[in-house]
Amino acid sequence: QLYDLRFRLFDTAGLDEARDDSLEARMQAQTERAVEEADLVLLLIDARAGVTPLDAHFAAWLRRADTPVVLIANKCEGEAGEAGRLEAYGLGLGEAVPLSAEHGLGLSDLHDAMQPFAEASGGASAQADEEPEGPEEAGEGPLQLAIVGRPNVGKSTLVNRLIGEERLLTGPEAGITRDAIAVDWQFKGRGLRLYDTAGLRRRPRVSEKLEKLSVADALRAIRFAHVVVLLIDAEMPMEKQDLTIASMVLDEGRALVIGVNKWDACAEREAAMQTIRDRLQRSLPQSRGIPVVTLSALQGRNLERLLDAVFEVYETWNRRIATGDLNRWLEAVTQAHPPPMARGRRIRLKYITQAKSRPPTFAIFCSRPDALPASYLRYLENTLREDFALPGTPIRLNLRKGDNPYAKKRKGRAAS
Ligand code: GDP
Repeated sequence: QLYDLRFRLFDTAGLDEARDDSLEARMQAQTERAVEEADLVLLLIDARAGVTPLDAHFAAWLRRADTPVVLIANKCEGEAGEAGRLEAYGLGLGEAVPLSAEHGLGLSDLHDAMQPFAEASGGASAQADEEPEGPEEAGEGPLQLAIVGRPNVGKSTLVNRLIGEERLLTGPEAGITRDAIAVDWQFKGRGLRLYDTAGLRRRPRVSEKLEKLSVADALRAIRFAHVVVLLIDAEMPMEKQDLTIASMVLDEGRALVIGVNKWDACAEREAAMQTIRDRLQRSLPQSRGIPVVTLSALQGRNLERLLDAVFEVYETWNRRIATGDLNRWLEAVTQAHPPPMARGRRIRLKYITQAKSRPPTFAIFCSRPDALPASYLRYLENTLREDFALPGTPIRLNLRKGDNPYAKKRKGRAAS
């Protein structure tokens, strides 16, 4: 989504990988099909590098295709890209839109260049908060859960406990590898799906158990999931690897619940809990409010509380906050603690809107996005999390340059 434009993006990466092959070989069937099926092609060139022979080949090919093309000159921050951008005019695809993908600059120009094609393709354009959501986005369908953690923390034991006899194997699906299975079951009338990448359901023999944490396995499970339960061992509370996985989960934009397993065997309970809280706070500041549930997979204790927490953070992860509330909030927090000055003028935060959920993602329109310090962004994130009660989920704040993009269209109407 770009402001009010919603579209589906096909990324046709890897076109210039095989430099020694013929161009024909590189124009993979996949790309051709993507171009054929698309309503619009964005051709990106590196303005700092200028027009390369490969750019020229693609441009020539795209000029012959039926699909309209918008040419983009990337890396246009500062002056260094200007010559390349002008040179790109010679590709015969019109003027190139100057962009800096890295700095998030030029998005409103890109929006304006894409807008006519959205209209032509039949209403791909709509107000972000008025667009009906697909089932996936609206949070229907099962909650996808992953259980990750270091070896021997009790993942298999927990999975077998949770699923019990009610399990229903759904079998291999598209996008799921041969040796991974999805398992569906119900909790309090709501659907859950567990994607078992590491073969947790069968009890692995000790001899075949890898004593090393497979980061690839964990990452695969995390990417599949909406909510991730990070299982840790109460007797070795929050070790470095546990923290690494926790931050991986948040980096991937997933909701997180921490399960402290083997609570039955833990002698120093208070000390364990304190250690967990301290380490989380020190190493993972964005983890504030993440639910920490003590349990015993072996004895089947507190599993209900664990799943309650899972559904709670799932709701937070799906939450949508009204634009009016957000802007009243923005005014209050910027008054309480004004943004700093940049080049003698105060940086202004003009407008905020929730661009999407899963995880909650906000666009803030700002006079100088490049100059706003990270510490101020953290202040915004922390107060946003507290004021709107968003624990256990990552929050994304995207700074955009410019004014409220809806202001013109909504003239005379209060943003809501
Ligand atoms: P995984 O490698 O994370 O899948 O761990 P397993 O589920 O295979 O468990 C490793 C060991 O911890 C096994 O001997 C389990 O019986 C034991 N275990 C698992 N959960 C608990 C628990 O809640 N309490 C205790 N005391 N032991 C547990």
